[in-house]
Amino acid sequence: MHEYEALIVGAGGAGLYAALEASKTGKTAVLSKLYPIRSHTGAAQGGIGAALGNIEEDKPEWHAFDTVKGGDYLTDQNAAILLSEDAIQAVYELENKGLPFSRTPDGLIDQRRFGGHTRNFGEAPVRRACYAADRTGHMILQTLYQQCIKNDVVFFDEYYVLDVVMEGQRCSGLVTLNFSTGEIHIFKAKAVLFATGGFGRMFRITSNAYANTGDGQALLVNRGVPLEDLEFYQFHPTGIRGLGILITEGVRGEGGILRNAKGERFMERYAPTLLDLAPRDMIARAIHSEIQELRGIKGDGSVDDFIHLDATHLGKEKIEAKLPDIAEFSRTYLGIDPADKPMSVHPTAHYAMGGIPTDLNGRVIFDSQGTTYEGLYAAGECACVSVHGANRLGTNSLVELIVYGRRAGQHMAQYVKGADFGIAPPDVGEPARARLAELRSQGNGPNPESLRQEMQRVMMENVGIYRNGENMAKAKNTLGEMRQVYTQIKANDPSKAFNTQVLEILELGHLLDLAYMMTACALNRQESRGAHAREDYPERDDKNWLKHTLAWLEGGKIRLDYKNVDISRWAPKPRKY
Ligand SMILES: Cc1cc2nc3c(=O)[nH]c(=O)nc-3n(C[C@H](O)[C@H](O)[C@H](O)COP(=O)(O)OP(=O)(O)OC[C@H]3O[C@@H](n4cnc5c(N)ncnc54)[C@H](O)[C@@H]3O)c2cc1C
Repeated sequence: MHEYEALIVGAGGAGLYAALEASKTGKTAVLSKLYPIRSHTGAAQGGIGAALGNIEEDKPEWHAFDTVKGGDYLTDQNAAILLSEDAIQAVYELENKGLPFSRTPDGLIDQRRFGGHTRNFGEAPVRRACYAADRTGHMILQTLYQQCIKNDVVFFDEYYVLDVVMEGQRCSGLVTLNFSTGEIHIFKAKAVLFATGGFGRMFRITSNAYANTGDGQALLVNRGVPLEDLEFYQFHPTGIRGLGILITEGVRGEGGILRNAKGERFMERYAPTLLDLAPRDMIARAIHSEIQELRGIKGDGSVDDFIHLDATHLGKEKIEAKLPDIAEFSRTYLGIDPADKPMSVHPTAHYAMGGIPTDLNGRVIFDSQGTTYEGLYAAGECACVSVHGANRLGTNSLVELIVYGRRAGQHMAQYVKGADFGIAPPDVGEPARARLAELRSQGNGPNPESLRQEMQRVMMENVGIYRNGENMAKAKNTLGEMRQVYTQIKANDPSKAFNTQVLEILELGHLLDLAYMMTACALNRQESRGAHAREDYPERDDKNWLKHTLAWLEGGKIRLDYKNVDISRWAPKPRKY
């Protein structure tokens, strides 16, 4: 049994920034299933958006507008305005904390173009993305981790959170597994924040790390917490062919061009103003169409067809200076140097716009009126404030981690000053202990690996870039059956210390729950908006669907409700680029 005033689950950018703030007043600990600097934030390449205006004129208002329009007007506009205004200070704070940004010749933070970021409400692309070569996330993580160590934040590395302790509408702790011993540890707390990241691993082709399995979202769902806008999942246009490893949008930000088999710059037909820097949902659909219409490089329209991302005209020197990791990935996984030949890419499952619903201070919401739990917070990719609406713009996730991770941490710091510890009952760890014992008891259950592959195939084929009601209805049934099969799975390794098989089974369960919920939400939303593109409902329908979905999973059944979108600043308009 441990006791901390503030507990943070997750050591990515959101968790670490929140920990830094919470530790200013309260005894704070971070729990992470990974060694902190292995969190997925470390893989972020391209940049963090803030209207610094270092290279050309820019304003937070333009950034907020782009975020709202990029999100196809499902973005809460108050959240987007706050994001873009706070982004500037947040980036300078990172700089002051030691983050080695790439610089202009006169020493300012350099900025490059990114998809959907424009000057003057859509006129032309603007240079808004601050970056540290193509290792921006890596640098953020290192900087924040060092600061946390300096500020005496306590780290519990390789502790896996299994359950959350709820006393009515109040959160008072966590049930965790110490991975190295296999023992259960209970943590009492005044406040708990979830910053457990995304769940790209439910798809066959993804840019996401193996650890991105949606644990936090699924654990909370299991305790009756709803999830918001789960139907919106982003496919990034440029993943390495066959593998899905990300090639950052920064390549196009630096001038890279997408080409089909005829060598055409096909984005001229889909987004005449922003071209290769249109928002990701539009480019992913454009690539999909080119491939379907047999203009992919292979030309057979198959699922493994691809197109070219051409950076050869940038020259070796620029590529090595601004995109060194990408050059290395390309040499390793494609066997070519991007200075000599174009890279072979296709869309890859990338980012969850939806997640645990929160208010502007990171407090988790449990109904359509926005009522909050006490002592329960969420931030980062696992949360939904909602700043990305139906489609996130590039660089806006890193900003969200910093801006809303920081705000949630600040709120926690205030909250724990006036709060007491709850009473975690002595048997609070029993359900988790029993579940682990059952998993380790061995036996001839179904094979978790084939179940995982089947889930990834079903999601990729039916709930991917394009969707339709008939396929999703079938997929939902299949996923429902798979959830039944899942309950029979057992590990064939009974050991306690470092039992990776038990963890993988738990993670598969989380992915299955979220895949099932996502499919139900996508089936329910009868329109196309942002990343949710339905063949049977191709138009956006503001009259009926300008609202957030809230979904609960109750005894295997989905319950749905809706929440208003904040449109206090800009009236929704058709999205053209
Ligand atoms: C390849 C790639 C490149 C990207 N590039 C960019 C970019 O350039 N710009 C941008 O804005 N966005 C980018 N993104 C998106 C962005 O990086 C992520 O959305 C963001 O980093 C997520 O951060 P996070 O703090 O929410 O979670 P993460 O960094 O994913 O961290 C999650 C943490 O939760 C912990 N955790 C999870 N489950 C448990 C559990 N059960 N028990 C204990 N701990 C747990 C993990 O150990 C980890 O520490 C990129 C994403 C990818 C995949």
